[in-house]
Amino acid sequence: MSEKRVYTFGNGKAEGKADMRNLLGGKGANLAEMNLIGVPVPPGFTITTDVCNEYFEKGKETVVSLLRDEVIASVHHIEGLMNSKFGDIENPLLVSVRSGARASMPGMMDTILNLGLNDEVVRGLAKKTGNERFAYDSYRRFVQMYGDVVLGMKPVNKEAIDPFEAIIEKVKAQRGISLDNEMTVDELKQLVDLFKKAIKEQTGKDFPTDPMDQLWGAICAVFDSWMNERAILYRKMEGIPAEWGTAVSVMAMVFGNMGNTSATGVCFSRDAATGENVFNGEYLVNAQGEDVVAGIRTPQQITKLGSQRWAEQQQIPEEERATKYPSMEEAMPEIFAQLDALQHKLEKHYHDMQDMEFTVQEGKLWFLQTRNGKRTGTAMVKIAMDLLHEGEIDEKTALKRCEPNKLDELLHPVFDKDAQKKAKVLTRGLPASPGAACGQIVFFADDAEKWHEAGRRVIMVRIETSPEDLAGMAAAEGIVTARGGMTSHAAVVARGMGKCCVSGAGALNVDYKARTVEIDGVTLKEGDYISLNGSTGEIYFGEVKTKPAEVTGDFADLMKLCDKYTRLVVRTNADTPHDAQVARNFGAVGIGLCRTEHMFFDNEKIKAMREMILSDTVEGRKKALEKLLPYQTKDFYGILKAMDGCPVNIRLLDPPLHEFVPHDLAGQQTMAEEMGLTVAEIQKRVDSLSEHNPMLGHRGCRLGNTYPEITEMQTKAILGAAVQLKKEGFNPEPEIMVPLIGIVNEFDMQEQVIRSTANKIFEEAGVEVEFKVGTMIEIPRAALTAGYIAKKAEYFSFGTNDLTQMTFGYSRDDIASFLPVYLDKKILNVDPFQVLDQTGVGQLIEMAVDNGRKTRPNLTCGICGEHGGEPSSVKFCHRVGLNYVSCSPFRVPIARLAAAQAAVEE
Ligand code: ADP
Ligand code: MG
Ligand code: MG
Repeated sequence: MSEKRVYTFGNGKAEGKADMRNLLGGKGANLAEMNLIGVPVPPGFTITTDVCNEYFEKGKETVVSLLRDEVIASVHHIEGLMNSKFGDIENPLLVSVRSGARASMPGMMDTILNLGLNDEVVRGLAKKTGNERFAYDSYRRFVQMYGDVVLGMKPVNKEAIDPFEAIIEKVKAQRGISLDNEMTVDELKQLVDLFKKAIKEQTGKDFPTDPMDQLWGAICAVFDSWMNERAILYRKMEGIPAEWGTAVSVMAMVFGNMGNTSATGVCFSRDAATGENVFNGEYLVNAQGEDVVAGIRTPQQITKLGSQRWAEQQQIPEEERATKYPSMEEAMPEIFAQLDALQHKLEKHYHDMQDMEFTVQEGKLWFLQTRNGKRTGTAMVKIAMDLLHEGEIDEKTALKRCEPNKLDELLHPVFDKDAQKKAKVLTRGLPASPGAACGQIVFFADDAEKWHEAGRRVIMVRIETSPEDLAGMAAAEGIVTARGGMTSHAAVVARGMGKCCVSGAGALNVDYKARTVEIDGVTLKEGDYISLNGSTGEIYFGEVKTKPAEVTGDFADLMKLCDKYTRLVVRTNADTPHDAQVARNFGAVGIGLCRTEHMFFDNEKIKAMREMILSDTVEGRKKALEKLLPYQTKDFYGILKAMDGCPVNIRLLDPPLHEFVPHDLAGQQTMAEEMGLTVAEIQKRVDSLSEHNPMLGHRGCRLGNTYPEITEMQTKAILGAAVQLKKEGFNPEPEIMVPLIGIVNEFDMQEQVIRSTANKIFEEAGVEVEFKVGTMIEIPRAALTAGYIAKKAEYFSFGTNDLTQMTFGYSRDDIASFLPVYLDKKILNVDPFQVLDQTGVGQLIEMAVDNGRKTRPNLTCGICGEHGGEPSSVKFCHRVGLNYVSCSPFRVPIARLAAAQAAVEE
């Protein structure tokens, strides 16, 4: 089998291109593409993602032997273009070995730089370049990275700092210097020896001296890193399948650490936090790759504008800024001009915001990576709308560019302006990822997770973050770091997650051991409250009040664009006028599910409700229901008014009655007194209501069919409120929904009660209101017999929570004991209560819609339940021809976007 496993690139040619990202990974595909469009990139080659899968199937040795010839030939290819030789002691070629999956996973997998050095080669490198300091700086970096990634030299525990950093700190302390680049050549040499010794001591492994051995070690380590804990966690969070695998790119090194005409940096063609159309980024003179993102030295700005904004944030006067912290635009104007031209070129080429890495080696600019940049939800919307207005993309593309779930960030609360003005500013950092967050301070990722699980809101405070902190960052409300810039790990990851983040707050003195942070004389402990403003970089003392977000500007424009393409409309699940109003503001065009049971829970109402449930006779129940009627009427009046002119689908009483009765003695005593019964009698009645399987018990329409007086009262309340509103000049559109039917007769009986009650009300009032009577399809038998049911029911609403429960036979309340195992073992890929099971449950829905419409062609069909706000489920609803989805108010914009995307994707 002559399968091609390696693709080369270099000197304006490449065997791959941008659309081969599945095979070459995003990094590999774009390195090839940059070559093809004339962006300067060092030559190299990419080992495919298929090989990664092969590696985990067949093992290391087999794969190395399968790869050997192609890799060796490709190394020669680089040597030819670079005019140097891998492992040569006079004219050595050094390479980097980089990971790169189909979807970008920043910092999740490992990279090794300066590979190919050993004690002899380093001397050759020093001689060739006439720069001994550079040669040994590269060597110590290589030993450090290789030791970490390939030989497993990690910190011994979470409080410990990186073992290599510890050695560096020690050497620097001996000389009383503070910066890495102040070390002498001898000290760098000393570091190499100390590093190797420490590796041998901690891991028992010798450092490999043969460059080819080093290369194989590194390639295999990159594959292995695909299965490291943090990469697995990241994939889980982002829904990236393990089968995609990572590619490995090997390329000639270019050096940003050759002196003051060399540099390395990261840049974005637009602002990844706000979406603003300004080129921005950070760089470091005389440094290498990871230095910028690792937050070791605080980097400088690329553009003058960026530098001025940064200085303002740090309250540094312009003069001081210009001399001490000049931008690249000012310090290296020619290189800056080239960089600016190329970033424009790349954005134009990809029609999207680019996140780029570059290195300047002795005055020559090289690109090392470009990708569509990760961004916040706000930036996502702004960039899509701006690119649309600039004519770079069309409307449909703009819709597709926005990820529905990411809109969630735009709906998060923001600081209340007045509260913010009054808040005490502790210090400032960089506005790395916008948003408002308050919570209790924690210092470690595992604590963040634990506290979050215990229901607390936390802010993670770190000197800097690393990929190990991922789960903690996800659990936190916000992240603060003392070091690092706008492109630090914390900043990039936080923006990707849509988490509020303030980075590089230099005034923070974090003490991990004492679990305290000192800020200008104020010491805060673990558990103390702080608030963060990710848009200004301000850190406040205590909790600052927040208020709900609004749909305005680009967000509103995007929503308008959705309406232009969508067929499926979005309603909301709401039980109160307030929720109805919130949802309306977010663009809901009706209520898809108004549950009535929540209305019974306040004091007076629950008493009347209990009285109704606990009485033995029809008369007793009627008397209690009489008391409930005015309350219910008022509730429906409020909701119908808030949704004036839009349909409001009200579900008749649904939950099992035992949920309403008092289970504690005190409650039972009160009930006994009020009803003139003994406590024992009340207890007997409560006991009689308990069921073995309440979800399959006396609930839904079974209540209305055994106690028709409940349905009668609720109908009176709904239509009474509607009549009242109509008289006042409003336009109520009530829909009355019978829940949980499995047999058409169940519906019939309820419908009769509803219609006869309606007639009475309309007659008494002398006013008629149009209304519909429909049903919920949530029992498999109802779906199977939908054709019959549609003869009577005027609409269907799919209650997919119960339908999923009964189709799978999983009790939603008991699923926790096996669901995690099922997900782990891949018996299930997703929780079917969160993501609609399109194959099984979906088939029932599709069939019910088709058969229902055969009987009643204009049958309105919708869905309520958790799935109505989940993008992939919404798209399914579009495809099977539902009229609407209904979801909680805060998911309405998400569902609107998903619905529009479904229409555009068709
Ligand atoms: P990540 O996926 O974590 O960003 P990368 O593979 O992009 O890791 O590499 C880490 C850093 O090393 C980046 O800053 C990159 O620009 C730099 N780098 C990678 N390869 C080279 C090279 N051949 N020459 C110079 N710098 C490099
Ligand atoms: Mg990496
Ligand atoms: Mg990178």
